[in-house]
Amino acid sequence: RPSGISEPFGGRTQCPFCSVQCKIRLSEEGVPGEKVTIRAQGDDNAASEGRLCVKGQNAHQHALSRERLLHPLIRRDGQLIRASWEEAMQAVTDLFKSTAQRYGPDAAGVYGGGSLSNESAYLLGKFARLALGTRYIDYNGRFCMSAAASAGSKTFGVDRGLTFRLSDIPQAECIILAGTNLADCQPTLMPYFNRARENGASIIVIDPRATATAAASDLHLPIRPGTDAALAAGMLKVLIEEGLIDEKFINERTRGFEEIRERALGQMPLSQTAEFCGVREDLIRRAAIMYGRAHTGMIMTARGVEQQTDGHLAVREFLNLVLATGKIGREGCGYGAITGQGNGQGGREHGQKADQLPGYRSITDQADRAYVASVWGVEPERIPGAGVSAYEMMELIHRREIRTLFVMGSNPVVSNPNVSMVEEGLRKLDGLIVADMFLSETAEMADIVLPVTSYMENAGTLTNLEGRVLLREAARPSVGESRHDWAILCEVAERLGRGSEFPFQSVEEIFDELRLASRGGRADYYGITYERLRREEGVYWPCGEDRDGGSGLMFEQSFAHADGLAVFSAPPLVETSDKAISAAYPLILTNGRVLAHYLTGVQTHRSPTLEAREVATFLEIHPSAAKRIRARDGEWVQIDSEAGSFYARCRITEKIREDTVFAPMHWGGQQNVNQATLPGLDPICKMPGFKTTPVRVSSYRGT
Ligand code: SF4
Repeated sequence: RPSGISEPFGGRTQCPFCSVQCKIRLSEEGVPGEKVTIRAQGDDNAASEGRLCVKGQNAHQHALSRERLLHPLIRRDGQLIRASWEEAMQAVTDLFKSTAQRYGPDAAGVYGGGSLSNESAYLLGKFARLALGTRYIDYNGRFCMSAAASAGSKTFGVDRGLTFRLSDIPQAECIILAGTNLADCQPTLMPYFNRARENGASIIVIDPRATATAAASDLHLPIRPGTDAALAAGMLKVLIEEGLIDEKFINERTRGFEEIRERALGQMPLSQTAEFCGVREDLIRRAAIMYGRAHTGMIMTARGVEQQTDGHLAVREFLNLVLATGKIGREGCGYGAITGQGNGQGGREHGQKADQLPGYRSITDQADRAYVASVWGVEPERIPGAGVSAYEMMELIHRREIRTLFVMGSNPVVSNPNVSMVEEGLRKLDGLIVADMFLSETAEMADIVLPVTSYMENAGTLTNLEGRVLLREAARPSVGESRHDWAILCEVAERLGRGSEFPFQSVEEIFDELRLASRGGRADYYGITYERLRREEGVYWPCGEDRDGGSGLMFEQSFAHADGLAVFSAPPLVETSDKAISAAYPLILTNGRVLAHYLTGVQTHRSPTLEAREVATFLEIHPSAAKRIRARDGEWVQIDSEAGSFYARCRITEKIREDTVFAPMHWGGQQNVNQATLPGLDPICKMPGFKTTPVRVSSYRGT
């Protein structure tokens, strides 16, 4: 047991690791002061139904780790040295003040995270805009949800991860899972799909790898990475040609279909689509017909489709399938973006994004700005304009336009693409402040490190992938001198002379202001209170003035656009340059998660049980590709791209395409897959092309 923990703990908490937000009941057994065993059991709730995966079963281990930061650190003579909170807070305040005086408020940047609670995400946005006065705030969810979020907003008028309830899944007759490996990433959801299959449903998986999810499917389309938009457009062509579209739904509930129909008629033949996507023509046709003939059906996408430089359009192509077949707004139907991060949904709703204010309000819309300003008690002019996306902030840092960066709940030096540029940029900063539980790779580079409480100590609300707002109570007191992230923000704001705008004494007070700020917005939380969350075990948004959280099923009567209609998208289909492999870089590198780890592994590498399951990164490679470079299973290989190199142990498997290699995203340093990923961004949502890096793999004999 690490120092600083004196209280026995227990009670109900919530897994910090993914968007299902499974409830956990913790208990201690043994003799206090001697050996104590901690047990984590799944606790009943509507989303996870009492299940926990291995990450949830061991989530307490990192919170109890001896590596937890227990006091602030300040860099002196090149070393991070223990400091008091008074010294750290003064240093942070001096840094922000001097940056603003010398270069103006926009020389400060704020970088948040999708694992922060709703309250912390909300407060971080307010802190950046009012306490610092900077336009530059964005967060790591830009790399997670931006393509699906922008596509959902354009198509439906609002972005909510799932447009249906998890409990509806068993009612679907056909389910398409595109670029999502649920079995490893959200394992506690798999029983919903198993139940659907028991009811006779067909499950179609689109993925370059034969994942554990593909193994549980009826049809696997092993797609070439980066061609999802073309595959979905090919399926739509089949649906139109076979007459498997819902004309009534299209006429009554959508607009833009004629353009789609015209495009489909002039589109390349399916055989050509099949060749482009690397998937047999008959499989594409079969998938389209299975989905088209089903009376009910769902499509879910995740990062495989979204983390591309045309991720926004790729998602919209899948949404075209949903609309063309009228499979939305009724039971057993809908679209779902499988959120990755613990608060991937709520984290993107309340103002961490460069272009958004709380409740999905737009930072450029005058009425939205005026409303939020009135809640904050300031003139609208006090709210700066839109900033730039997470990776673009890194470019501004590299160009020395941002001089001081405040990072909370994120590890950008591992999670950004093109990390050598990012690292170089962070070293140029006048000041880097990191609030974290551990000395992450980014915290190691910091000038000031602020220790924060973990999920077990910090209460707050989180919104799971189905838009269900859940209250996570604190399960034990803070450890050491660690402080809640929201309390740190309030104190810095106070020291910057903005204390009256940050008067909060509890997370509930912050939530009450969030409710007000979101009132009438597209993500409306106004009708949700802590008291209600304790009583009702989660409430779906939108939940406004009438306090009706709704059933969780969206778009039964109308969509969220002003005319109530959903919108088809008919972009031209082009292959973008980052997908082009060459003689120099003949393989496509894609990345993703493994069961035992989460994000950049800052927390899961500190859980002995999880770390023991996967101690180093690896590169999945097909036997024929491995043979060409004479690599043997388990040997280290070097992976090079135009951006840089990383190293991984070779894992030879026939479960991956011959032209594709896969590496997980959970390791930093020389094992960081992002040493190789390229800087290209989706022009609409600014998502980097994580899934489509042309690379060369060679044997590595070094150590
Ligand atoms: Fe549940 Fe996700 Fe945590 Fe696993 S990682 S226990 S699926 S919330």
